[in-house]
Amino acid sequence: MAVLDPRQLPVRLHLAAAESGLGFALRALRANGIAFEQGMRWLGLERHRPLDAAAVRRVAWALNVDVDEFGSRVVTRDPGAGQGWVRYAGMRFRRHVATNRLYAKVCPQCLREHGITRLSWQLRATVGCFRHGYSLIWSCPHCGQAIGWDRPDVDICRCGRHLKPQDAPPVEGEVQSWLCWLETALSGDDAVPVSGALPQALLHLSLDGAFGIVEALGICAAPGRSVRAALSNCKTLPELGVVVHRGLERLRTIEADAGVLMRWATMANQPALARLAADGANDEDRALAWWLLQGMRSGVDHGNTRAGGRPRGQLPLFIA
Ligand SMILES: [Zn+2]
Ligand SMILES: [Zn+2]
Repeated sequence: MAVLDPRQLPVRLHLAAAESGLGFALRALRANGIAFEQGMRWLGLERHRPLDAAAVRRVAWALNVDVDEFGSRVVTRDPGAGQGWVRYAGMRFRRHVATNRLYAKVCPQCLREHGITRLSWQLRATVGCFRHGYSLIWSCPHCGQAIGWDRPDVDICRCGRHLKPQDAPPVEGEVQSWLCWLETALSGDDAVPVSGALPQALLHLSLDGAFGIVEALGICAAPGRSVRAALSNCKTLPELGVVVHRGLERLRTIEADAGVLMRWATMANQPALARLAADGANDEDRALAWWLLQGMRSGVDHGNTRAGGRPRGQLPLFIA
């Protein structure tokens, strides 16, 4: 094991396209013969918290990597925003949606083929792999323990065994499009073609807002079910995939006929929409969340617009 002092890592690696910063740190430390936990102590990196600008500079220098490139690949504080917000991949996210703490999930097949951990795996919105379906795993198939960052290498569990690819069911068609859209938006990589149609509104929303709205609309299978029970029953990625699938379908239906909002009022997670309307990542997120709530809360005007009932008030421009 190498002796550590406050110098840069001598063996220099390059960030791969769409690679996460923590995954890069693991790879770079490994290439220099340093265990992840030892490296974290050396770097003074508290990965459970969003990093501030000074920590990003310090860690990037030590890892011998470009500071701006590295800084956009880790969860950082959102200057000026409250505690609940972070920045990741140059975008704003609610802290629980993009975190270093919970989402060390991986696609073993991608790890085998490409050897890097992807940015998107750290997002709650990433319910599957855009290449390999419901293949993302949280825990090791051998020892059953949660997959941690403090593992010997990106594709090796803390128990020392390889994270082997397993047969995984494909994701639903719309969810596939969703995952491709996420990848493209996160990495700016046009090489991921979005197959199939997605609701038009997504083009205008932030990733955080899109996921928040899709989850709020899709969480319950039927009207009148408990939102709280639905949230607590949604523990696996395929279960969350079903929610995303339903949410996307419902958003598209709403785009075609806003009159359905009244009927769906008891099916949506209205408190989540209200939080988004009050404090969203951007204006469009806030506007759409507000507009959906208005439609659910008796605001539907059954007047004589050609399109049928529309919520009163200012329509978000992109819905009209
Ligand atoms: Zn994969
Ligand atoms: Zn294991």
